[in-house]
Amino acid sequence: MRHDTGYGHPERPERISAVIAGLESSGIPLVGVAPEPASIDLLSAVHDAEYISRFEKFCADGGGAIDMDTYAGAASWEASLRAAAAGPAVCDRLDEGVADLGYVAMRPPGHHAVRDRAMGFCFFNNVAVTAACLTRRGNRVAIVDWDVHHGNGTQDLFYEDPDVLYLSIHQEGIYPGTGSLSETGHGEAEGTNLNIAVPGRTGGEFYIRAMSEVLVPIITQFKPDWLLVSSGYDAHVDDPLAGLNLVADDYGSMAQLLAPLVPAGRSVIFLEGGYDLDALRQSAAATVRGWLDPTFQAGPADEGINPQGYLRWAQEVAARYWKLP
Ligand SMILES: [Zn+2]
Repeated sequence: MRHDTGYGHPERPERISAVIAGLESSGIPLVGVAPEPASIDLLSAVHDAEYISRFEKFCADGGGAIDMDTYAGAASWEASLRAAAAGPAVCDRLDEGVADLGYVAMRPPGHHAVRDRAMGFCFFNNVAVTAACLTRRGNRVAIVDWDVHHGNGTQDLFYEDPDVLYLSIHQEGIYPGTGSLSETGHGEAEGTNLNIAVPGRTGGEFYIRAMSEVLVPIITQFKPDWLLVSSGYDAHVDDPLAGLNLVADDYGSMAQLLAPLVPAGRSVIFLEGGYDLDALRQSAAATVRGWLDPTFQAGPADEGINPQGYLRWAQEVAARYWKLP
């Protein structure tokens, strides 16, 4: 909450209150975890030591603008350390069996942060820190990124890592400009990276079909030990920064499809973007209900367009590496 991005910035503290209100309203019992700041060793798994110390000094000097839209203040260093450590802390608690699903409701978000640079409101790549921590322990990790923006940082960090599967659905032609179907991973990791970029006004019906007909079969064959979700809610129709047409229940429908892919206690959802407070609250609630509440039933996902040609292109590329139904 003390990570101050400046007056009028969309990535603001109220986002966390909205997500927590959503989780509390979901009817799912919650167990709190308060993460300690990340150690430099933990961060070093995905970030350069020189970048880490440069960012520490930048915040200690009072912060400011890092690029056109990424701001840090004096408290952003500690907030970033805690956000980066939250995923591993949640995994430890899940390993102890305290809950069936982890939810990292933290900011700053992370999926744009690359090895040596902050980008797009992100400083440390929270989901990547967690994935690296899990692969160091011998696990295979699948990351689903349904934020409306491509998670360029996460993709880059694991582009040559065959133990991390990265699957993203995002809007084409917007920030950060990466994330095309031709980016499929490299070397031994060829095929472990898939991007589905969709046109503006795409709605939930497309997302749910892409999830069930492309992403779910790939994840099933990859056989991950852990499933992490980069869960931005900026593909919501009410989001002010992007142009897709999802409704809150669509996140619940996607959660319902993902939940059975790993055993209970082996999944963590990470808040990324999402800038409309009501959309954040309702979508966060729908996500955990879809994941955990067997009585969850989504309303009709009929907002927006359903560009079938984009699904066929994704199937053609995915079929080079995976068996699709
Ligand atoms: Zn986003």
